[in-house]
Amino acid sequence: MIVRRRWTAAATTAILISAVLSHPGSAAAAPAAPASPITLTATETALVRVQLRDQAQLDRLVAAGADLANRPRARDGRILADLVLTGTQLAELTAQGATAVQVVQRAGDGTRNYADSVRAAQARTTAGLRAPAAGQRTTAAAAVDTLQVQQAYWWTTGGQTFLQAQVATTATDDPDVEITVSWRTADGATGSFPLYRFEDSGEYQYHYNLPQPVPTRPVQLTATSSLGGVSRVVTPALWPNVSPPPLPAGYQKDFIDAYLTPIDIQARIKRLARQYRDLVDVIDLPNRTQGYRRNAAGYLGDPAVAAVVVESVRFGDQNMNGVQVRTVDPGRANRPLTVNYRDRVLTVSLATDTAGKTVSTTDEVAAAINARQPERFRATVEDGSAGLPMPVAGPTRIDDGLQGTEVPARPWTVQALRLGVHRDGSRVGVLAYSQEHAREWATPLVTLEFAERMLANARTDPATRELLEQVDIFVIPTVNPDGANYSFNDFNFQRKNLVNHCTGAARDPKNRTSWGVDINRNYTVGSYFDGYVGASANCLSGNYAGTAELSEAESSNVIALAKDHPNIKFAMNVHSYGGYFMWPPGAYRADGRITLPRPSIDESTLFLNSARRIVGAIAQERGTVTWPSQTGPVADVLYSAAGNSADQLYYELGIFAWDFEVGNDRWNPATNQWEGVGFQPPFDEAHGESQEYAGGLVEMVRVARDYAAAESAG
Ligand SMILES: [Zn+2]
Repeated sequence: MIVRRRWTAAATTAILISAVLSHPGSAAAAPAAPASPITLTATETALVRVQLRDQAQLDRLVAAGADLANRPRARDGRILADLVLTGTQLAELTAQGATAVQVVQRAGDGTRNYADSVRAAQARTTAGLRAPAAGQRTTAAAAVDTLQVQQAYWWTTGGQTFLQAQVATTATDDPDVEITVSWRTADGATGSFPLYRFEDSGEYQYHYNLPQPVPTRPVQLTATSSLGGVSRVVTPALWPNVSPPPLPAGYQKDFIDAYLTPIDIQARIKRLARQYRDLVDVIDLPNRTQGYRRNAAGYLGDPAVAAVVVESVRFGDQNMNGVQVRTVDPGRANRPLTVNYRDRVLTVSLATDTAGKTVSTTDEVAAAINARQPERFRATVEDGSAGLPMPVAGPTRIDDGLQGTEVPARPWTVQALRLGVHRDGSRVGVLAYSQEHAREWATPLVTLEFAERMLANARTDPATRELLEQVDIFVIPTVNPDGANYSFNDFNFQRKNLVNHCTGAARDPKNRTSWGVDINRNYTVGSYFDGYVGASANCLSGNYAGTAELSEAESSNVIALAKDHPNIKFAMNVHSYGGYFMWPPGAYRADGRITLPRPSIDESTLFLNSARRIVGAIAQERGTVTWPSQTGPVADVLYSAAGNSADQLYYELGIFAWDFEVGNDRWNPATNQWEGVGFQPPFDEAHGESQEYAGGLVEMVRVARDYAAAESAG
């Protein structure tokens, strides 16, 4: 195709790759744990920065589907990971050699200003770092390695200039090779910083470091290794070095005043459709969700002694919240075990022996309830109570435990906005969708700000009008409204949907905040079910893949919309946090780290060139620059995410499918550190993210317009 050549000609493909950090060589020299110990109660959940013992521990966590909030990072060569976990899980990790470094956010901290405490120090410049181990390798002096500078980029943000470099050594199997980068600015200032070894899934990738502050524009960079290797001298390139057209006078933006719940989003969709009738369709997606609802559940007996978990077959809101359960002593000898449900009370009368003593066990009670009241109740022996005598206890009430009072308890219709002058499939289509993960509160703000910018400016700005003439835009502001309702009302760390596929003891209501399916692991390409890494079969895992590919309404809706509109050629899956811009492949197999097929050179060029444009547009708002090390294929720059939506859109439907992780780290000049923002930052930060990433989505529309123009010209 002629068109493709147009993209290829633009660059000789500096395809960006990066991977998980590790630096075993200096792990032993790492500073000790912080002075004040970090404590969580066993059941308390928190977002914790943990220093992992080694790469193997990280690999095990990823393979087990750990709820990794972000990509593991190096600090002085140590592996730091942000994990959502309970006190019990943290204790297990600690016993295996990990160290908690910082509690980023505790459950319930949803709107608290925790920006100052988020994500502890990242690698500082040269201060405090171990000097390169030159001379330690005299016996291996003959084995001088060769160094290749794969990336060297600089940029300026907030008045501070940064330099980031990526260098590969040919001594790939030597974990102790140390690489140092030396730089010089135009006015002659010099300096250096170390790079750290990156391995992913046990394989060496290259050495890199976080962006380092430099006084002014660097004009020269070289790398040296502890084995004696010296790279060629390179001139760092400006990143991203692409700017969008300046905003015209009178351009309208800033339509976001607060975080938006799914109910708020529903209202806004309705208002936009009313206000911009000629430019908007509202599409009801075909698969209604379960809704903000759950089975009523509780304990029969005494959880401290012996208990059976009893839950309603119907949802709690279906007249089952507040039903009571109890066990009674019949007060007579030789009575059988009986189960009776009357007046909203489930009564289990325990069997007695010849002396009149109750003799029923937990297992017998659970079996009796399941046998005699299968239409109304399910019973499971509580973990640890198997075979124990059933105590006389109750009545206690069972309920769904849901706190939200404003959320309708019925299946939810997920909606998409369709924007454009010609909404008939004749124009190239763009899809932006957000909040697959419930706790990522800033993400619908991004897509709704984007939608309203396109609509409001269509009347006043000819360039916006022209975009809506040429492009057919689809927006799903919240893919996972049930989980989002739960995140706003009950448990702010909720990532998954509200469907509970657990069986047996895992249905104990003490696990309520761990149920649900990870929507972005429930798709069909490169899935857990196909043997790919980064999702779990454990229904309590943060990355639970579901019972089968597309088992969930939420994921099925995204694919249904894309399939129904084959003109869609570009898509953006909006997540938070961390500041990433990514594309396929998003998953690899554990054995040999075999990724899904790499895009062709032409397509990789399109992904990268478009990424630079979009990164430039994001920076236009408040100078936020997405790092080159975090711009690239998901499997390389973040982690393997088996069964994610972008991979299905790309590999199955041929859509150029990207992912944002909005919420870039902020540079703190007072501490010389990059600081993270978390899932639910103070609103000012979320607002800033909505403005800058909405600008990125507008640029994606321009990319689509240019692509379509090139296609028709070709
Ligand atoms: Zn996410």
